[in-house]
Amino acid sequence: MRRGVRTSTVFLAAVVGAVGVARGERPRMTLADRVFVNARVWTGDAARPEAQALAVRGSTLLAVGSNAEARALAGRGTEVVDLGGRRVVPGFIDAHVHLLGGGLALGSLRLDDVETSDALLARVRAWAQAHPDAHWVTGEGWSYAAFAGGLPSAAQLDAIVPDRPAWLVSYDGHTGWANSFALRVAEVTRETKDPPGGAVVRDARGVPTGVLKEAAQDLVERLVPKPPPHEKEQALARAIAQASAWGLTGVHEAGMGEQDLALLASALEQKPSLRVYAALPIARDPSPDVLARQDALRRQYARGRLRVGAIKGYVDGVVEARTAAMFEPYPGDGTGIPSWTQAELDRAVAAYDRAGWQVMLHAIGDRGIDMALTAFERAAAANGTSGRRHRVEHVEVPRTADLARFAAGGIVASTQATFPYPNANHLGVYVPTLGPERARRALAFRSIDDAGAVQAFGSDWPVFSADVLRAIACAVTRSTLAGTPPGGWEPAQKLSVEAALRHYTADAAYAEHAEAEKGTLAPGRLADFVVLSQDLLAVPPEKLQDVQVLRTVAGGQDTYRARGF
Ligand SMILES: [Zn+2]
Repeated sequence: MRRGVRTSTVFLAAVVGAVGVARGERPRMTLADRVFVNARVWTGDAARPEAQALAVRGSTLLAVGSNAEARALAGRGTEVVDLGGRRVVPGFIDAHVHLLGGGLALGSLRLDDVETSDALLARVRAWAQAHPDAHWVTGEGWSYAAFAGGLPSAAQLDAIVPDRPAWLVSYDGHTGWANSFALRVAEVTRETKDPPGGAVVRDARGVPTGVLKEAAQDLVERLVPKPPPHEKEQALARAIAQASAWGLTGVHEAGMGEQDLALLASALEQKPSLRVYAALPIARDPSPDVLARQDALRRQYARGRLRVGAIKGYVDGVVEARTAAMFEPYPGDGTGIPSWTQAELDRAVAAYDRAGWQVMLHAIGDRGIDMALTAFERAAAANGTSGRRHRVEHVEVPRTADLARFAAGGIVASTQATFPYPNANHLGVYVPTLGPERARRALAFRSIDDAGAVQAFGSDWPVFSADVLRAIACAVTRSTLAGTPPGGWEPAQKLSVEAALRHYTADAAYAEHAEAEKGTLAPGRLADFVVLSQDLLAVPPEKLQDVQVLRTVAGGQDTYRARGF
């Protein structure tokens, strides 16, 4: 209900603003601050899907229409921008990022683009040599496919970093790789027990190999020096600038520590080019005190560039580490590691649902997804609530029959457009780990759409890049940038460009309860849009990867301009 009220308020503001009636005067036209003409605007708005021009006043759109309509709103002080026939789309909204992690990643040892263990170790060696004063060698981004058997070993790292601890986290953040020095300082030995929700990988003799899965990563992670606040601030500023360059005007922060929220709020004040919808970490058994503290943060960040509205939890792990919870075993053995019993999960979700929160649950395996959906359904039934728009994050390997539960329960499928990127890791590790039957129903974006669910796209940056245009190319072609495999991976799940755009705009806005303000281009909505180098909706699929962001406008202001444009 609250949504409806807000919608009409925004609409009313637009109408009153446009007419501008002052007491005792004739109604006069409110003029635009900026008009953008000669564009091909894909508005996402069913009432007017295509337009030529946009008129902006303050942070919102005054008009969306023809060149003549927009020019009629231009006065002497109005800036007129001729876009030369370029394609314009609503500002992109990434429904799942880790901004701080993304910003830190931009300035650290990254191993994402390295495909072989030799190349990977060479990069670690170079970094260690260039940073002789670093007490720890830390980095992120290695892929399972780089190693025979899918996992590295401490011995490989010992050969290049023998003299200080080294700790390298996999690209998905679910598996850590330590050298022997790090295992020693963390006191991880043959006697160390697997912590709940985690596993210490051991060799045939029971000796830890250096690989720690899921919660077991904390054994080493807790010792890694944390970046001080000023480094975090710089990282957030870098993340915000990079987001604008990718055409993002909004992101959903998928779980930020309470102590980092203030840093983010101040970063957004200094660089007001992004709107962030943030989730707080779930408490396992939320006490009245915890709920009150989280509610205070929700009220503190209720409007403005940082808005807190969701709670984020993890139901399971990931496929490659065999920690995503499955109904059937992985090849070899094991069905994954759920982080909760169903009863515990039901209790926590119901408490947050009752308190009016939207809950976002990371769930990847079919069993994990079923657990998340079940918890949402039971919470709504127990509390008599509706319209919370609870979200399953990732939805990688759902049972086909479970897809209908999204639309039925008003549950959002929050998926990542680049997860089906069919590189060596995907085809060589991800797919075989699932086995053929599960691989066929994995990352099934088309089936999710066909089941009538609202599907919001995101990146999980820094797990994957948050480059939206590359991600759209992946969702449309299901191929690598090199065009492999021919015809794409599981081609029946390819999306149209329009569907992918919608998932990155209107659907992502819906997933944060903000479709009345953004995600489409219509009068009264935020003036958030992107100017593209080529017409995304007309180029052949194999050329999608060449389309560039030329200009990003957020809240009426330029937040990114490509060089020379
Ligand atoms: Zn994530």
